[in-house]
Amino acid sequence: MTEVAEQFTEEQSGEVARISHWIDGRRVEGTSGRSGPVYNPATGEQSGEVDFATPEEVDAAVQAAKRAFESWRAVSLSRRTELFFRIRELFHSHGDDLARLLTLEHGKVLSDAKGEIARGLEVIEFCCGIPELLKGSYSEQASTGIDVYSIRQPHGVVAGITPFNFPAMVPMWMWAPAIASGNCFILKPSEKDPSASLLTAELLKEAGLPDGVFNVVHGDKVAVDALLEHPGVTAVSFVGSTPIARYIYETGTKHGKRVQALGGAKNHMIVLPDADVDMAADAAVSAGYGSAGERCMAVSVLVAVGDVADPLVAAIKERLPKVKVGNGLEPDSEMGPLVTREHRDKVASYIESGSEQGATLVADGRESAPDGDGFFLGVSLLDNVTTEMDAYRDEIFGPVLSVVRAETYDEALGLVNDNPYGNGVALFTRDGGVARQFQFDVTAGMVGINVPIPVPVAYYSFGGWKASLFGDSHAYGPESIHFYTRGKVVTSRWPDPATSKVDLGFPQTR
Ligand code: NAD
Repeated sequence: MTEVAEQFTEEQSGEVARISHWIDGRRVEGTSGRSGPVYNPATGEQSGEVDFATPEEVDAAVQAAKRAFESWRAVSLSRRTELFFRIRELFHSHGDDLARLLTLEHGKVLSDAKGEIARGLEVIEFCCGIPELLKGSYSEQASTGIDVYSIRQPHGVVAGITPFNFPAMVPMWMWAPAIASGNCFILKPSEKDPSASLLTAELLKEAGLPDGVFNVVHGDKVAVDALLEHPGVTAVSFVGSTPIARYIYETGTKHGKRVQALGGAKNHMIVLPDADVDMAADAAVSAGYGSAGERCMAVSVLVAVGDVADPLVAAIKERLPKVKVGNGLEPDSEMGPLVTREHRDKVASYIESGSEQGATLVADGRESAPDGDGFFLGVSLLDNVTTEMDAYRDEIFGPVLSVVRAETYDEALGLVNDNPYGNGVALFTRDGGVARQFQFDVTAGMVGINVPIPVPVAYYSFGGWKASLFGDSHAYGPESIHFYTRGKVVTSRWPDPATSKVDLGFPQTR
């Protein structure tokens, strides 16, 4: 068992663990005197205290990464591949430790935590193919005796700033392709559930990754700003809420960095009158309440078209009392608590405002939440929601599903396309022609046809449109390799002394 995993023994000891930075292959305790609490959301107890980095501590991580870069970038592709296979095996064999950590700090149920790791592992597996992914192109005899070829090279030191809702997987979206491409990486994880990043660091070290190639600095805006402004950091990846994503993009690019910043979402699932009602209801419940709605791809708005609305709402209502809400470590729990008390209370406020603003409260999660000090909220369903209501306008990021009733397909499509976000969207229908037209018309980055959570597989890339993405690169998949490398084109001639002469004219290809 690794050091971090040992910290979380069978039952938590009740002690508050200190969560420190990881710089140059070892734990480094913070010196800022600033820190933040980490909770077990299922019990409401504080389990950790995480150090917040100063700009000097961020600089120490950047310097360690810079020192490691020259030799890391020179490691051959076959050695990097070998290492990534070892990383894959270690994350696979420590999957249960990692999943447990996620449940203890994030609150998601164990099966969901294992699912997060499985999807992250797919990204690591994709990176095992790094020799193929970094292949350039070659044009022989572009001009007489001249060959031209393209190569892709790493930036140097790159940083990733990640959200609370996928504390292992979203960092994997970043560090795996960044490191496989030859960069050194600095992770600034969410301060709400930071321990998974340290277990990640330990596993990477155990796999044989050289010190300094992967570093972790914890913290808040101070640490983030230090990364965004540091001249030694060349590219920044961000995943989180839209206001912060916009800030990261504007600040990072102002400081000359390449930035990809994935933001928030308001994902709609449209159900047409010809859809299978039971299948759509199962999908809506799974995608609306899975991980307590704390997924950027969660379905937040169900758009019921025409006369499907009444049977669909009835079918969902019938399923809700069966959703088991409880401590994520309990094997029969299907939905855990929310990440913090403040977040739980904010989510609950949308149940209140929704009914005050005229929605029909079909199920009230405040009444069905388990007792105790955990940050629990049961499942809520609001019907007859309209576009002016707060529950429709805001990203709630909790187990509150809103039903908007639309007369026609065009009205439903208009709702999605007028929405400021454009992350995921789903259409439930049996009509292939309509589905094909929908895929053509809709303004969102990830589209599901009878699939409620269309997270792309690891060999495609993940990203939204509109206010769900700032920058032009999506995460993981081929776009990530492009993001974490720079192109270089080499024009080469091997001198043949017999044909050499002085020529002041502009070089021509013919
Ligand atoms: P958040 O924006 O509050 O935090 C994300 C990161 O930014 C954290 O590391 C945090 O410490 C840092 N941060 C917070 N405030 C900051 C500030 N003022 N200045 C600089 N840095 C700051 O997001 P969250 O609450 O951790 O995560 C939930 C959000 O993430 C939701 O909006 C969700 O939709 C989004 N998300 C999006 C995707 C996607 O792929 N588009 C994936 C997962 C989550």
